[in-house]
Amino acid sequence: MMHPHTQRVAIDAVVGEGVVATRRIPRGSLVWVMDALDQAIPESEIAQLPACWAPLVDRWTFSDGRRHRVLLWDHGRYVNHSCAPNCGGTEFGFEIALRDIEAGEQLSNDYATLFMGPSEAFHCQCGAPDCRGAIDHRQVPEAVAAVRRALTHALDFIESAPQPLWPLLDPQRLQAARLSLTRSLADVLQSRGTRRRAVSG
Ligand SMILES: [Zn+2]
Repeated sequence: MMHPHTQRVAIDAVVGEGVVATRRIPRGSLVWVMDALDQAIPESEIAQLPACWAPLVDRWTFSDGRRHRVLLWDHGRYVNHSCAPNCGGTEFGFEIALRDIEAGEQLSNDYATLFMGPSEAFHCQCGAPDCRGAIDHRQVPEAVAAVRRALTHALDFIESAPQPLWPLLDPQRLQAARLSLTRSLADVLQSRGTRRRAVSG
């Protein structure tokens, strides 16, 4: 479920729709928590679908890195990519604001830190000073490191920020995220690579 102070809006002809803050969302706020209505569909079931579903799967779901495609029931599925994201943490089943997000500002993830497939590549026009342009299934270690760093710092604010989504967060997820963030980046990328090979093989 998305933070209640967000809404889906039309961005422009290139991007389509996105999610913006309707009020200021402080750093450390839970902006999304996976809930009972969100669907984690096993990739084995996705593989059984007729080919015509593939573009919809690419467009509307994301991989959790654990052999599922996740379909969000609310406007969480409209959160766009940015090479300078203000949200992070999808693989933990929740996301937090990596910095203060002002009212009217678009919420974003860095897709290059996620688990995209080869068919999900796109050309980025996010406008960030360090925009990487081509975004594809290859994770960018520098981007993963940057988000993990920002996430580690933002987690320091999770207890002090107002948290409308707090009742949805399983404390074990938070604990798992904190433990994961203490691992070295090399270990993280190694385990992700192992998972991806396992999925594709
Ligand atoms: Zn970009």
